[in-house]
Amino acid sequence: MATSAVNAIGVLGGTFDPIHNGHLRLGWEAMTRLGLQQLRVIPCHLPPHRESPNSSAQHRLAMARLACTDVPGFVVDDWEISRDQPSYSVHTLSHLRQQVGTQVALVFILGMDAFNQFCSWHQWERILELAHLWVAQRPGSQPPNFTTQEGKLLQKRQLHSTQLLNTTAGGICLHDTTALDISATNLRRQMAQGISPRFLLPDAVRAYIEQHELYRDRKADPAND
Ligand code: ATP
Repeated sequence: MATSAVNAIGVLGGTFDPIHNGHLRLGWEAMTRLGLQQLRVIPCHLPPHRESPNSSAQHRLAMARLACTDVPGFVVDDWEISRDQPSYSVHTLSHLRQQVGTQVALVFILGMDAFNQFCSWHQWERILELAHLWVAQRPGSQPPNFTTQEGKLLQKRQLHSTQLLNTTAGGICLHDTTALDISATNLRRQMAQGISPRFLLPDAVRAYIEQHELYRDRKADPAND
């Protein structure tokens, strides 16, 4: 699989409920550090590992589009949302691999919290045949202990960022991404209490949330009495 790959695409999947600056900065740092030509931002439809998201797929997709509109290289991809099946990452990466061919490096970008669960993912070994992993430090999450399956995997596969794009898949790079202690869970909790998400996500996303009255605490809404 060794190649002098000059083309490389980043893949940032997530629930994005809502998309926030932690996601955007994560994607931006991976893209600029590695010199990726494109970052595919892919909101999931039916998250297999999580409880149901709070906003509809169409709202999450619309917010992702607003967040990425003016960001060079960021492309929102609705492939998972447009499918009526569970959105396992391995399926998405297989589809992308078919689209781009064998000569392009794919870099699947995730936070440390997600990487710490990686070996429980559907066909995770296949994921590493299809793509590299770019794992960002995230406040509140530690790198895996070397006794865990993810820790052992890291020992075998870890590459420096300067080496990652020498091949098209199979390496894991840990990156000291700027720490932004933002999570969608906390944002939803705060918004339900009437606390504005200003400065934690793009203004256009905030305006959309207000316009569509998302994440309001329905129990506290007199209309629901
Ligand atoms: P929730 O709080 O609802 O779990 P989230 O903020 O973690 O949501 P997801 O859509 O689940 O958002 O995250 C998509 C990806 O982005 C995951 O790989 C996650 O680890 C990563 N990520 C999210 N927020 C951050 C952050 N602040 N810093 C680094 N990585 C992040």
